[in-house]
Amino acid sequence: MTDLIRKTASELAALISSGEVSSVEVTRAHLERSDAVDAAVHSYLYQSPEASLIAAAEADRARAAGEVSSPLAGVPIAVKDNLATIDAPTTSGSKILQGWQPPYDATVVKKLRAAGMPILGKTNLDEFAMGSSTEFSAFGPSKNPWDLTRIPGGSGGGSSSVVASFQAPLAIGSDTGGSIRFPGAVTGTVGTKPTYGAVSRYGLVALASSLDQIGPVARNVLDAAMLQDVIAGHDPHDSTSLPESLGSMTAAAKKLDVKGMRFGVIKQLAGDGFQPGVAARFRESLNLLAAAGAEIVEVDCPSFEYAIAAYYLILPAEASSNLAKFDSVRFGMRVEPGEKATIERVMAATREVGFGPEVKRRIILGTYALSSGSYDKFYGAALKVRTLIQRDFDAAFAKADILVSPTAPTTAFKFGDKIDDPLAMYLNDIATIPANLAGIPGISVPNGLAEEDGLPVGIQLLAPAREDARLYQAGAWLEKAHEEIWGKRMIDFAPELEVN
Ligand code: GLN
Repeated sequence: MTDLIRKTASELAALISSGEVSSVEVTRAHLERSDAVDAAVHSYLYQSPEASLIAAAEADRARAAGEVSSPLAGVPIAVKDNLATIDAPTTSGSKILQGWQPPYDATVVKKLRAAGMPILGKTNLDEFAMGSSTEFSAFGPSKNPWDLTRIPGGSGGGSSSVVASFQAPLAIGSDTGGSIRFPGAVTGTVGTKPTYGAVSRYGLVALASSLDQIGPVARNVLDAAMLQDVIAGHDPHDSTSLPESLGSMTAAAKKLDVKGMRFGVIKQLAGDGFQPGVAARFRESLNLLAAAGAEIVEVDCPSFEYAIAAYYLILPAEASSNLAKFDSVRFGMRVEPGEKATIERVMAATREVGFGPEVKRRIILGTYALSSGSYDKFYGAALKVRTLIQRDFDAAFAKADILVSPTAPTTAFKFGDKIDDPLAMYLNDIATIPANLAGIPGISVPNGLAEEDGLPVGIQLLAPAREDARLYQAGAWLEKAHEEIWGKRMIDFAPELEVN
């Protein structure tokens, strides 16, 4: 049954649950797909087909014994390689961690296992999740299945391309400034950054701890909702994880109703300066919402102008501190500098070889921003901007239930286009970064194809903290409205990718 790979996770769950197919069959179909296409796409850094099939057989055994552990039991999933896995190496896309095998599972990984979801492998990412294209992975980039000469987004380009190339029905990503949502937009997949604290970060290789959040990557909104329900919840191992439940995302995704909902178009992100096809699809979706009885209002978020500047001070400051632990003593790589090997020299030699250029750039930037002479001028100023952005959101959410914008200014760009121009790469995240600075949830939903290049475009929905359910409710409605117009689902537009 090769068409198993083109099904959504909820469809697969139903087939497994009715006994029509087994988890082993579904898992094997996806592993075979990887054999056929991953040499070209390079979504995975690591796979162990044997371990995946053992987990699938265990899911089948449990089901036969009447123990159904979750609505997604038996459905396989890929996991970004910055999540700790006890049975597989965890590199975070960096040479410095090459060969490191964690002594424990991240909480999210534990939850996936407990939910009966076989893990298909670890997906590629920009080194330590710094980047927007996977070009900063120490192990080579992942490709966009829609056009192999283009980037699949980043940092989670492995997780987006693995779903878009039908190697996995679901994947886990992490989003610090857009690394779930941007890859979703450029590969025609759904990606959610939940409310900060909704999903435990325990076992996530930290980039910037006050911004990082783990979330789902999926084919459609319902699948993303079901996955968020599996991975969310309080965790005593993560002191920032929320104590309360945010309710059922799955139930929200099934409501299919936007009547009376107020959608705020962010003036600063309304499409000016964006690629024409991105802006055009965005306006069409606003019209669809209005026609369905939603209210469209404009909201002003003047401080967003400074969001990227603030983010690129706060993130490097936190990252430079988080990455200090990669010192050649505790994890991974160790480089001996020759005869006079003092501890400082071993550390310096290891970090010189082990870290790539973008990581070094951010460590230098962050260390400088935190240095005593610059702290107030840079880091302190950035924190003030962060507060202003949170206030902009508060004012905007007084007028609107959900804020909307295109997820990214352009469709997938070509490899090499931005790699030598850090600022151009950073500007890419203009629409996604504010949500991380404010800790609010955001989702990118496929919004059709841009006329000029035929590539996927995303629409981003944002909600107040803890109101993730609104995103799934409105996102699922929009997806259904699109499918009615197109006569097929977004994934049915995805190219076949006949490679071997
Ligand atoms: N592209 C952004 C950055 O480079 C986002 C990273 C992320 O979300 N992990 O920081």
